[in-house]
Amino acid sequence: MSAMEKSLIDRRFEDIEENLKVIRENIAQAALESGRAASDVRLMAVTKTVEPIFINHAIDLGIDLIGENKVQELESKWEHLHLEHCEVHLIGHLQTNKVKKIVGRVSMIQSVDSTHLAREVSRQSAARNAATDILLEVNIGREESKTGFLPEQLEEALGEISALPSVRVQGLMAIPPICGSESEARKIFSNMHQLFVDISAKKLDNISMNILSMGMSGDYRPAILEGANLVRIGSALFGARMY
Ligand SMILES: *Cc1c(COP(=O)(O)O)cnc(C)c1O
Repeated sequence: MSAMEKSLIDRRFEDIEENLKVIRENIAQAALESGRAASDVRLMAVTKTVEPIFINHAIDLGIDLIGENKVQELESKWEHLHLEHCEVHLIGHLQTNKVKKIVGRVSMIQSVDSTHLAREVSRQSAARNAATDILLEVNIGREESKTGFLPEQLEEALGEISALPSVRVQGLMAIPPICGSESEARKIFSNMHQLFVDISAKKLDNISMNILSMGMSGDYRPAILEGANLVRIGSALFGARMY
């Protein structure tokens, strides 16, 4: 490694450290404002396009949960990551033909967006004598471009999924539309939280509502104010992504 490369890496290490400090402060502040403790909100570092050296630096700084979008990218990074004290969740759209490669590797699939996919995750988990924790992805903004369950489809889907032997629903995940204002964002997060509370209250067999995963770099503050307990942050931590 040249001195130049070394100094660029060191600078990015410092940026990540500084960014993490700011993010943790913001999370603690928003948690407090919503009547909770900082420790009630879990931080996920979203690592798509980020090289393992920087991901490992974040892990060294205390990150204990990372999220990747793509099975293939995760596979290529896996052996380079220091995962002894760090969990990995899949957060991107998963094709059924890739389920086999991911089950048993990640500790949760947050992006289960159809009953068809849930069935395949259960089938592949059973084949490995395991059960997989999942979140159901909700298309809360009713966007054509996004996958996920529409709010009114959730109850029927949960009924079906609760009967699957080898998946355990742990909560809900959402990616809201890009909002023009913080109040607009809060409204959408609030709708999502209400859905989460309503489903919890139904006490469905085999369904837990422990995790409400919403909020990214641009909107984690309003998400926490409206009840998110897991935020997924990429660019605010690692810097802008270059594809
Ligand atoms: C990329 C991504 C994130 C993080 O996005 P940032 O805006 O960079 O924080 C969170 N969730 C999902 C599902 C993503 O694909």
